Amino acid sequence: MSDIKVLVTGASIAGPALAHWLHRRGAEVTVVEQAPGLRPGGQAVDARGVAKEAIRRMGLDAAVRAACTNTAGAYSVDAEGNVLETYRADDNDGDGYVSEIEILRGDLAQVLYDDTSPRVEYVFGDRIAELTQDPAGVDVTFASGGRRRFDLVVGADGLHSALRSMVFGPRERFVRHLGLVLAFFTVPNEFGLDGWMYDFQQAGRWAGLRPVPDPTRAIAMLSFPAADFEIDHRDVEGQKRLLREQMAGFGWETARILEHLDDTPDFYLDQVAQVVMDHWHTGRVGLLGDAAFSASPMSGAGTGLALVGAYLLAGELAAAGWDPGAGFAGYRERMRDYVDANQEIGRMHVQMLTATDAEPAPEPDMEAMTALIERAVDGPELPAYDGVPDAGPGGRSR
Ligand SMILES: Cc1cc2nc3c(=O)[nH]c(=O)nc-3n(C[C@H](O)[C@H](O)[C@H](O)COP(=O)(O)OP(=O)(O)OC[C@H]3O[C@@H](n4cnc5c(N)ncnc54)[C@H](O)[C@@H]3O)c2cc1C
Repeated sequence: MSDIKVLVTGASIAGPALAHWLHRRGAEVTVVEQAPGLRPGGQAVDARGVAKEAIRRMGLDAAVRAACTNTAGAYSVDAEGNVLETYRADDNDGDGYVSEIEILRGDLAQVLYDDTSPRVEYVFGDRIAELTQDPAGVDVTFASGGRRRFDLVVGADGLHSALRSMVFGPRERFVRHLGLVLAFFTVPNEFGLDGWMYDFQQAGRWAGLRPVPDPTRAIAMLSFPAADFEIDHRDVEGQKRLLREQMAGFGWETARILEHLDDTPDFYLDQVAQVVMDHWHTGRVGLLGDAAFSASPMSGAGTGLALVGAYLLAGELAAAGWDPGAGFAGYRERMRDYVDANQEIGRMHVQMLTATDAEPAPEPDMEAMTALIERAVDGPELPAYDGVPDAGPGGRSR
């Protein structure tokens, strides 16, 4: 085992996945999460193509599949609920619009946490308050007052990453709002969902219902266009008010869905945004997942990017003998095209959704589209990293 100590911020998808791989490569890992425990909630996230291979290499294929939503497919409907189009989960070898591996974000976070917690130190309810780096390491002061020194620090703290602001610059420099606001929340399954997802789109607005493993519940998804949008993350009531106003009068089941806003056990609303940065590390501090390269929920690829990025970042750092310059550079080089392709898909999806009769979306070039989807799904090669330490899927206990 090396004596490399790595601090990872954020215990959602990217953080625990990175902890898994860093540990396997021989590092001692601490994950700090500002929430008091694993955060439940979030809608279904997908793993396609190379992301499925990353899960398989973690030894988590069975655990992830056991927690999947098992969505059979999706119906696109009109305002009266008539089916316009059908997409099946086994279309495109399971890598289509509804993918064969679809899992609630909170359930995937739980699988990753259960896998890593015997071997990785998790600190909940804390965050980095201050950080200074020198050529040999990074001194971290936590909000709780503790001080520790690490060899490397990686921010996997999401779209609104505090570590990114602290080390790379203000949020506005990197976060690109795509002109859409998206909300998800749990509703009772009074809509008769039977394993199929439904969605209704019209003139920039979108409403959908998605089945979950518990057949008595469903997840509602609503979105509306908003050119300028500043969200107050603490004002959930204000967010719900805005959603009601913006979705008022929208057809299909929207009115019934909105009736459950007051009694939903969870609620997620955020701008649809991407993070675009020309480098993902400075010295010994790097970024991963949405913090570094969010492609937005409209790409359907945030989870895949986080899982694949975690594999490559740990592999490249270990292969470089934990040299931060070479390791972080190798990771970016391998990830760049995969990120670009998925960000392009995210932007195209928003364009299609917000198109109106007056401003229709440009006609897609089908050949270019097929090539783009291939880059986005197949992703980068995952090197075997022969000769680099690997403790195996079970790893060593702490
Ligand atoms: C509660 C929640 C619900 C979500 N719901 C959806 C959804 O419905 N649909 C969708 O497409 N995407 C959703 N996402 C985003 C999705 O999880 C990501 O796109 C993707 O999985 C990549 O994840 P990530 O780990 O990079 O970032 P995230 O999943 O955003 O996780 C970041 C983690 O960092 C923690 N954190 C934030 N700031 C700090 C800090 N200063 N110090 C320590 N920890 C910090 C957060 O609490 C969170 O656990 C959600 C994220 C969260 C946290």
